[in-house]
Amino acid sequence: MTTLSSNDALAQRLSDSGLRATPQREVVYDVLLRKRDHPTADEVFARVKSEMPTISLATVYNCLETLTQCNLVRAVNFERGPTRYCPNLAPHGHFHDEQTGATHDIELPPGLLDEVKAVLPPQYEAASVEIIFRGRLPQTGARASRRSLSS
Ligand SMILES: [Zn+2]
Repeated sequence: MTTLSSNDALAQRLSDSGLRATPQREVVYDVLLRKRDHPTADEVFARVKSEMPTISLATVYNCLETLTQCNLVRAVNFERGPTRYCPNLAPHGHFHDEQTGATHDIELPPGLLDEVKAVLPPQYEAASVEIIFRGRLPQTGARASRRSLSS
């Protein structure tokens, strides 16, 4: 567990990579931390703009790329969709709700990713493993369907 505030963590990670914490990088990171719904770059831009009206989309893209390179943020890709950004650094999978387009973090049991990597033939070395579930959540409300989360 870290006791650093998000901005200290940001400044530390950036300086580890030889970069400075700029106000733009801080506000982009802050926006990602505040609402963890895996926004696209366009969505991040819209949120950042309300706090920093002069920021450009190109700057937001640059910030997102920097944060991803520093491993403060994960870029998540689903086929046919724009890249989404996730500030959750704990190993986790994603559940992509095909009905609403929402993406949820799924906590993984410790060691699961190592077990998954272990099925690789010895000559292969995985830099990363992504676990993405696709499906739908049961409907809530009066007409709740009992469909299971099969994939
Ligand atoms: Zn995530």
